[in-house]
Amino acid sequence: MPSTATSLVDLRSDTVTRPTAAMRAAMLAAEVGDDVYGEDPTVIVLQQRLAGELGFDAGLFVPSGTQSNLLALLAHCERGDEYLVGMDAHTYKFEGGGAAVLGSIQPQPIVQAADGSLPLAQVEAAIKPLDPHFARTRLLALENTWHGRSLPLDYLAGAHELARAHGLGLHLDGARLFNAAVACGVPPRAIAGHFDTVSICLSKGLGAPVGSVLVGPHALIDKARRWRKVTGGGWRQAGMLAAAGLHALDHHVARLADDHRRAAYLAGCLREVGGIDLLGQHTNMVFIDVPAPRLRELDAHLRQAGIRISIGYLPTLRLVTHLDIDDDGIERTVAAFRDFFMRR
Ligand SMILES: *Cc1c(COP(=O)(O)O)cnc(C)c1O
Repeated sequence: MPSTATSLVDLRSDTVTRPTAAMRAAMLAAEVGDDVYGEDPTVIVLQQRLAGELGFDAGLFVPSGTQSNLLALLAHCERGDEYLVGMDAHTYKFEGGGAAVLGSIQPQPIVQAADGSLPLAQVEAAIKPLDPHFARTRLLALENTWHGRSLPLDYLAGAHELARAHGLGLHLDGARLFNAAVACGVPPRAIAGHFDTVSICLSKGLGAPVGSVLVGPHALIDKARRWRKVTGGGWRQAGMLAAAGLHALDHHVARLADDHRRAAYLAGCLREVGGIDLLGQHTNMVFIDVPAPRLRELDAHLRQAGIRISIGYLPTLRLVTHLDIDDDGIERTVAAFRDFFMRR
């Protein structure tokens, strides 16, 4: 819903979007069936549509991005295998260690460059020789966008070549793949095509209430489907949720450019406010530092103005634009920041 003078401007994440009236209508009208039997027509359409659009054989609709990434890791790797992954990547740091807990799969973290890429020389150096001392290196996992940053397209081509040369699988945590595609001005398959499997979140900037899709070749998606059941993620008449995803793909992709424009505008305004250190703006995210002792007070001030921020990743604040934040919401945010930093 668009923000009004009294509505909340929630900048904590693009996960907080609520389904629009049109999306709810699409959900209500969805044809459904039992997806554990493979009989939900709307789920089937969503899976085939995303797979086709991104250049893959098959797709698998799942409840969350965390589960989608986990199923990809379980599909690519066996017990005692390892995946190469960014030190600050979601699939390493923010998924509860699921691959280790449930798959006996070991992560080999690689320190990321400032643009989010894993330097390929470091990746290559981390690949273990075939030797009983070592876990078997099976997979390289990348993330795009990472902290809002789109990985350079020529980097993706290099990562693809390296993975092929060493017989590694290549997985993309593309929770915000569509933001990257819109920001780079390329069709999403120009990014996805470098990978063996890609996970996409429908529940972030695309604005669906729930759901992610894992796409890949039949063999890997069949394995992932089995693991989805094992991890308790087999669902029944999920077509109503898939309908929200289809609606999002029809109506909420091109408009991601609006989120990026609003984030750039917000960054430009905050740069002019004394007391705020603008660290950067990438796609729909703005990163700022504010003096740590003033954070709680700032948070309280913003709450009073109907603005929510997340102060969980101190000392840096991440402000995220999305479907439920319009131009007026951005102006209110700028005014509230100015008011706080100028009156003291
Ligand atoms: C949100 C996110 C996920 C996980 O998605 P959930 O649906 O919250 O489990 C994975 N990777 C990245 C980069 C994300 O931002």
